[in-house]
Amino acid sequence: MFDLNLSSVSNASEAGDEPLKLLVIGSGPAGYSAALYAARAELAPIVLTGMELGGQAALTHEIENYPGFPKGVGGSELGELFQKQAERFGARTEFDTATEVDFTKSPFEIKTESGEYKAHSVIIATGARSNHLNIPGEVELTGRGVSYCATCDGWFFKEKKVVVVGGGDSALEEALYLTKHASSVTIVHRRDELRAGPILKTRALENPKIDFVWDTVVTEAVGDEKVISVKTKNVKTGEESAIKTDGLFIFIGHTPNTEIFKEQLTLDDGGYIVVDGLMQTGVEGVYAAGEVADPHFRQVVTSAGMGAGAAIQAIRYLEEKGL
Ligand code: NAP
Repeated sequence: MFDLNLSSVSNASEAGDEPLKLLVIGSGPAGYSAALYAARAELAPIVLTGMELGGQAALTHEIENYPGFPKGVGGSELGELFQKQAERFGARTEFDTATEVDFTKSPFEIKTESGEYKAHSVIIATGARSNHLNIPGEVELTGRGVSYCATCDGWFFKEKKVVVVGGGDSALEEALYLTKHASSVTIVHRRDELRAGPILKTRALENPKIDFVWDTVVTEAVGDEKVISVKTKNVKTGEESAIKTDGLFIFIGHTPNTEIFKEQLTLDDGGYIVVDGLMQTGVEGVYAAGEVADPHFRQVVTSAGMGAGAAIQAIRYLEEKGL
């Protein structure tokens, strides 16, 4: 995560009694892109950061596929640039998390950990969080060998052995990052075919520090003070085994952060907010952008694009309503 600009932090109550034109919930690429467009339209949006300033992208070591950065850019650095650009035009950042929303009221009411906001329009950009394996030892050993973020914790595994679970882009990207620190990286995947795209697949398969255990699931993280091994099971033969390791990194997909919206908005079977092609939810004046509404692409560039689109629609909505 990047440094929070403390000068931009204030309490919700300071927003005054006048409803905001636009409140953006979430501070990842979708949230700050929405704030940038809204700020340039002089809506003076407030961005609620949520728990992770910059969202998941800020936890990514290096982003190689965001246009405009031919040499790649650090996720944290890119998040900071998004924030600065939006704030340059008048967006404000609040280090606060939305806890309850009421979209039946006009203006909308949004409760946060430190106060309450009223807003004529809302863009939800709350993103998604890492899925857990839900195996014995996982919760107890989180932060003591079990991790969901190689960029955050990889350094602790210098010259150590680590196990990575998953076969998607995240698992391979993070495994490749871990080879910078760890002495060896064992990827345990439940099938014999990787889900990840060709570039990462080739890089991982060719990396001498990475080996693969196919058709296998991790069934337990073992250790008292810290992880010392993981138990595994071959899903084809049923054979149980163990791998000695210092770390267990889990990258098995994400769950959208939509709990506080489920009574108010339509969600799909995966819990993602359903939006139309104009980023509109079923409630007029409420938009969603980025991973919270996108089970398909989940890229920094697509999230940023959705955020911009949502803001353009919010601007039009407020104009039409004379707000
Ligand atoms: P993902 O594509 O959904 O992959 C999740 C992986 O975890 C799959 O290999 C899946 O196995 C495995 N898995 C799921 N549940 C499991 C369980 N309970 N036990 C064991 N394994 C389990 O998720 P992701 O890798 O986080 O990627 C999400 C999206 O972001 C994708 O669209 C991806 O392309 C994108 N992304 C892109 C980049 C990039 O372009 N550089 C980087 C990161 C992510 P199966 O394969 O058997 O289903």
